[in-house]
Amino acid sequence: MVSGPSAVGKDTVLDALLSAAPSGHPLQKCVTATTRPPRPKEGGGMEQDGVDYHFVSPARFNAMVAQDALLEYAEYADNYYGTPRDWVAERRAQGVDVILKIEVQGGMIVKQKAADAVLVFLQPPSLEELERRLRRRRTDSDDQIAKRLLHARRELDYRSHYDYAVTNDAVPEAVEDIRAILRAEHCRIRRGGDG
Ligand code: 5GP
Repeated sequence: MVSGPSAVGKDTVLDALLSAAPSGHPLQKCVTATTRPPRPKEGGGMEQDGVDYHFVSPARFNAMVAQDALLEYAEYADNYYGTPRDWVAERRAQGVDVILKIEVQGGMIVKQKAADAVLVFLQPPSLEELERRLRRRRTDSDDQIAKRLLHARRELDYRSHYDYAVTNDAVPEAVEDIRAILRAEHCRIRRGGDG
């Protein structure tokens, strides 16, 4: 699972990770559900339903919560986001390494529910650089940018709950770091606390 503040470059790093040469273990990113509307993608075009997110109404989201269809969910900058439980369980059963790109509250829930989850925190080189990236993105209103910056500061406080921290200074290095983490995790004999 990868968390990190808005505009730290999670999508760029994860897209590069997913398109990198296969490492022997299948890797897939989970498409999560959100109540926010699609927004323009940085590379051009709009986000697509079922590809970038499952874009759902608040009523549909509530129904998913009521049916216990979400492994975790959280509110973030006035919208709801949640991870489809069955999809993750099916892929895990097939031996796929599932990437969850979620914010920190959801990250903490996954950590409790899935003992074997590996938590990676993607961090910016600095808060100043993060603000520059958020503004450069130009997809959010000033109000949204302010909210996302506030969240970012709070999210950085959760770093100590994660297993690994990767700094996104240059994308290829960040990708290499995550590949190294995945590789090490597949060689792991025991996790901390197991004895
Ligand atoms: P954005 O609106 O920028 O796409 O996403 C806002 C935040 O919600 C990001 O930190 C993103 O990783 C997170 N997020 C996306 N899907 C989920 C989800 O299913 N659960 C949780 N907890 N966070 C999510």
